[in-house]
Amino acid sequence: MKKQLTFLLLLLALILPVSAQAPTVALTFDDGPSGRFTAALLDGLQKREVKATFFLCGYRIRQYPELTERIAAEGHEIGCHGFSHNSMEGMSRRDIAEEIAATLELLPQGTKARFLRPPGGCCSSSVSQVAKAKQMPILQWSVDPRDWAIHDAAVVKGRVVRAVKDGDVILMHDMSTSSVSAALAIVDELTARGFRFTTVSRLAAGCTLRPGEIYSAFPQKSEPAQTGSQED
Ligand SMILES: [Zn+2]
Repeated sequence: MKKQLTFLLLLLALILPVSAQAPTVALTFDDGPSGRFTAALLDGLQKREVKATFFLCGYRIRQYPELTERIAAEGHEIGCHGFSHNSMEGMSRRDIAEEIAATLELLPQGTKARFLRPPGGCCSSSVSQVAKAKQMPILQWSVDPRDWAIHDAAVVKGRVVRAVKDGDVILMHDMSTSSVSAALAIVDELTARGFRFTTVSRLAAGCTLRPGEIYSAFPQKSEPAQTGSQED
């Protein structure tokens, strides 16, 4: 009887449709590394065994090289958020290329930034052209709780939990205690609801990503990946 039950369970596991996969989302954190806030966030993510994606600024990597090393060493993904955090919208291609190159060269050895997220998500045709030349897809987001503006962990968490769905890319910032508390509360709440968290590259696995193109979410069941042009 026990054998029959095991066989039945195995059979069920094999024939269950792909839609039975747990909804999966990516937490992304912009503007760091940011000293104690990033350290507290990394502690919380480590405790929960959750991997996220950090869009780092070059001038901050220079300020916190040890935190940058820690982000990479703990299995999180690193993306490029420019060097100065100045908007790339009005910049020349040369200046945009310089912003990216100066940031990438500060990354720990063996670490590659696959995605570019221009500051503010602003994307001009020059940004797209440079990203294409550098073989980088551009990543925006599909859920934005505006954590940097409201500084209220409960409100931020509520906004994300109400809006989130499979394949979403959540935009946050490791720049304040309230953002860190909100991010960890979001992980706890969504984990309890059956969600999984992963890096952007893993979320996008199976999608064909084109350098210079803009992406904002990667739902498991739809192909190709959703592109977007959300402004912030
Ligand atoms: Zn930013």
